[in-house]
Amino acid sequence: MAAHEPKRLPRVDLPADARLDTIAVREGLPPSQYGENSEALFLTSSFVHPDAATAAARFANEEEAFVYSRFSNPTVMMMERRLAALEGTEACIATSSGMSAILLLCLGLLQAGDHVICSQSVFGSTIKLLGGELAKFGVQTSFVSQTDVSAWRAAVRPTTKLLFAETPSNPLTEVCDIAALAKVAHEAGALLAVDNCFCSPSLQQPVKFGADLIVHSGTKYLDGQGRVIAGAVCGSARIVDDKLMPLMRSAGMSLSPFNAWVVLKGLETLGIRMAAQSERALALAQWLEAHPGAERVYYPGLPSHPQHELAMAQQNGSGGAVVSFIVRGEDAEVARRNAFHVIDSTRICSITANLGDTKSTITHPSSTSHGRLTEAQRLDAGITQGMVRVAVGLDDLEDLKADLARGLDTLGA
Ligand SMILES: *Cc1c(COP(=O)(O)O)cnc(C)c1O
Repeated sequence: MAAHEPKRLPRVDLPADARLDTIAVREGLPPSQYGENSEALFLTSSFVHPDAATAAARFANEEEAFVYSRFSNPTVMMMERRLAALEGTEACIATSSGMSAILLLCLGLLQAGDHVICSQSVFGSTIKLLGGELAKFGVQTSFVSQTDVSAWRAAVRPTTKLLFAETPSNPLTEVCDIAALAKVAHEAGALLAVDNCFCSPSLQQPVKFGADLIVHSGTKYLDGQGRVIAGAVCGSARIVDDKLMPLMRSAGMSLSPFNAWVVLKGLETLGIRMAAQSERALALAQWLEAHPGAERVYYPGLPSHPQHELAMAQQNGSGGAVVSFIVRGEDAEVARRNAFHVIDSTRICSITANLGDTKSTITHPSSTSHGRLTEAQRLDAGITQGMVRVAVGLDDLEDLKADLARGLDTLGA
């Protein structure tokens, strides 16, 4: 077996100091022999080798080349390289969904007896996966406060291997301190993984604050137009190439080339979409804060947000594109009725729990995304019956205000 460096695939020839917007439209693989300007979609399950010896070298990883699309495909690799460059990590591995990215990360890094510390405010399916499915295999998870770093520190055990955070949280937009959590993780000899779905690398690069691994639901802002389910894990080559890639080869939660291509092209507009959607979200949050129909507004870009300063430092001065608010109502029943009234009075917003789309979406978290929790669990998490979440897209701001005003201006008692 050759001990020398394996033969690598070529890189796109970009200046070393190319900035994010340029990377977002250029990073990937050099074009094929045909010189296409827009990246090609390679719909092929396997790849042909010139001879048996080359095939052997490729299967033995002595030569980086495409072999079989369960674990290597040029279109998928272009997306992985582009996302890694945007996150500032050495490597990235694409997965079939955001949840399979988290599954891949956990299966690749954990074993029976290991302990995980996770925010109690992460995506609901992440709580089910860590607290339920993985517990069956002897991995214990402690769920702690999103914002209280001392609770994370107090939860550390000798067996703690992973800290898992998601910031800002859904739907309350609570922000956790990535640098502080990285410190807790590293002092414990553990890794910090951050689900960067809500900000995307265009607003927040968790590795800059010491995170070791980034998880993405490509379904949200990376595609950005609500077309595909996709996911990814970004991190060091040591973890991604040596631990996760072999697991991908045997477990196969692969992203299809077509979905990778959609995300790849979505990344080209990520920066301008995030900027435009966040700008609209801030203006909408300010407008809601001044509206008597809204009792409270949750948006990291507002000075009234409890972690406003931390969010601004961590999120590149942006609050992101998700705004939640509590509709007025003297008790839970009235608040719920009023929240439904606001949602049902919209004519533009899509009534769906998805987010990260150019089409603005509106949802009632208590009865949809957080409907599987008990009312006590919801209240613990601060999700009341009057809460409405808007994931602001590219709809015109004045149209969005009018859409919400239709209900907010006509609330019942
Ligand atoms: C949607 C979402 C996921 C799961 O992603 P899928 O692509 O739907 O599997 C994980 N984390 C967060 C924060 C999400 O919003």
